[in-house]
Amino acid sequence: MRKKIVAGNWKMNNNLNQAIDLTAQILSSKINTTTEIILIPSFPFLQLVAESCKNSMIKVGAQNCNKNEKGAFTGEVSCQMLNSVGVQYVLVGHSERRALFQESNKDLVEKVNSCLTNNINPIYCCGEHLEERNNNHHFETVKTQLVEGLFHLTDNQIKSTIIAYEPVWAIGTGVTATPSQAQEMHQFIRQLLNERYGESIAESLSILYGGSCNASNAKELFSLKDVDGGLIGGASLVAKDFIAIANSF
Ligand code: PEP
Repeated sequence: MRKKIVAGNWKMNNNLNQAIDLTAQILSSKINTTTEIILIPSFPFLQLVAESCKNSMIKVGAQNCNKNEKGAFTGEVSCQMLNSVGVQYVLVGHSERRALFQESNKDLVEKVNSCLTNNINPIYCCGEHLEERNNNHHFETVKTQLVEGLFHLTDNQIKSTIIAYEPVWAIGTGVTATPSQAQEMHQFIRQLLNERYGESIAESLSILYGGSCNASNAKELFSLKDVDGGLIGGASLVAKDFIAIANSF
């Protein structure tokens, strides 16, 4: 059975006290034990959140990594460093990084590789812009992102990854993909995995939906056959909403 996962991408939000509070509220809440929870705070709070979650079921992820191991890369953080503070996941290819920091699929290959070398599971993000969907290019866009950025991995390596489908037009906009749009794209992604890696791997990988997922729409989205949970932005900053989403399976 595929893992059910809810990951909270805090983006560049929360100061130290807010990060402590939010983590404590989540840790003290009742969450379905079959759901894997991943908290994804900013770099300064990773160690603290990882320490706080050490004896719980909650895992910690980072929002970005540098592809290099170490060296003269001022302002950057490597997977080796992330691993050393207890980080188990890294978001790779979030649309904000693709758009604001010009990350290409080629860059993402190296980030994914660095994650795996350092025992970190990449959460590989893909998704089309509105214009691409309106021009009926959304399948092609997502396919290219996956083929160029992720499908170089071997069978064994791909098993350590999570895919997040996040239509760019739904991120932070309050507009959510309809259940049929979400299911159709998740099914398409699983079919691509099937063609590249075979049925058993395709059926075992978790594919998360992201884009204005909230406490009101999570249940319907998570009930879809090929949706295995969510990557949550805005709603992950409010403990009760995040917990409600995590309990929406
Ligand atoms: C995201 O940034 O990954 C995201 C899904 O954001 P939001 O839930 O706010 O749309």
